[in-house]
Amino acid sequence: MNATDLRPWRDPSQKPLLQIKSVTKKFSDFVAVDDVSLDIYAGELFCLLGGSGCGKSTLLRMLAGFEEATEGQILLDGEDLSGVAPHERPTNMMFQSYALFPHMSVLKNVMYGLVHGGMTKAEAETTAMEMLKLVKLEKFIKRKPHQLSGGQRQRVALARALVKKPRLLLLDEPLGALDKKLREETQFELIRIQETLGVTFVVVTHDQEEAMTLASRIGVMNDGYIEQIGEPREIYEFPKSKFVANFIGDVNLFEGEMIVDEPDRAAVLNDSVGEIAITHGVSGTLGQELTIAVRPEKLEISKKKSAKMLNSAKGVVEDIAYLGSQSVYHVRLDSGKLVKAFRANRVREAEDDLTWEDRVVVGWDGSSGVVLSQ
Ligand code: ATP
Repeated sequence: MNATDLRPWRDPSQKPLLQIKSVTKKFSDFVAVDDVSLDIYAGELFCLLGGSGCGKSTLLRMLAGFEEATEGQILLDGEDLSGVAPHERPTNMMFQSYALFPHMSVLKNVMYGLVHGGMTKAEAETTAMEMLKLVKLEKFIKRKPHQLSGGQRQRVALARALVKKPRLLLLDEPLGALDKKLREETQFELIRIQETLGVTFVVVTHDQEEAMTLASRIGVMNDGYIEQIGEPREIYEFPKSKFVANFIGDVNLFEGEMIVDEPDRAAVLNDSVGEIAITHGVSGTLGQELTIAVRPEKLEISKKKSAKMLNSAKGVVEDIAYLGSQSVYHVRLDSGKLVKAFRANRVREAEDDLTWEDRVVVGWDGSSGVVLSQ
């Protein structure tokens, strides 16, 4: 790794700030978090991503100290956190409900923890004001929470959580209460604030676009397990399982038996496409069931088969969604399988415009599919 590489997880000599070692959490005999191991580095904005009930909040609550792990260890800077009370940890948690004090002004809300921690009022006010400037709320300091918009309340909660400069800030669905547009704007604000302060963030979200926008790395959770950990691009381009491929973005899955297994090429026999050629070696054995995952933007669609389509299938355009910069085509293949293809709308009136009921060919080259064995 060179000095400018900001990805410490790629450098085995770097020490993680937070180490989660084989952590399991059981509620009676129900396993909510199942043998999770994960290292998070200083300065990261790490997203735990997963559907409802997959255990992401339980894992976050263990980091904060609101739950004890049934098995395993959580270390911060090499120090075991077991038995350390939440308020004694160098961590802070921002809840989805924000939990602001309704009767206190914005300034007092942010000062509260500082004054309780022993700071003088004057010092606390200066420190709180700096943080309120950072979250762009200096004009609202006298208001009470109910006199603010949802986005402003979210920023008060963030300022309050950050003002004591925790080593690690834990955020549970921090943007969950905001509408889509505000949510997207606030994502960039959150990144700016995190980068300015250099505090390590662990964010829980069920929203894959949000995780892709925010995260330095993502941990995709399913049923208490971490299915995959990686940079957003890595998770999108090289998902390790059908679950991850499906959870992150749209994907077309073609299943079949491996019929060619050579060092530099392989092939899978699929009901819709026939023989799917793969122009690289695959770890597996002849006869093994494999899935080829092809993202809709990698699936070419046209009226005639093009030279680039090493793998192709014929079908009929069943539906088109015009999304401005691109259109999404739903194509019913002759086998009955439905696939999705994206096409960029580069010119206003495209000559080869495709429309409903058109007979088309969809296809991809030998390297655009990801081969999945699980
Ligand atoms: P959501 O996005 O819906 O909040 P989540 O991934 O954060 O989901 P958790 O809150 O971590 O999910 O819950 C994981 C599982 O553990 C769920 O099945 C939940 O019902 C269960 N669970 C959580 N807390 C308890 C508890 N105190 N007692 C028993 N079961 C619990």
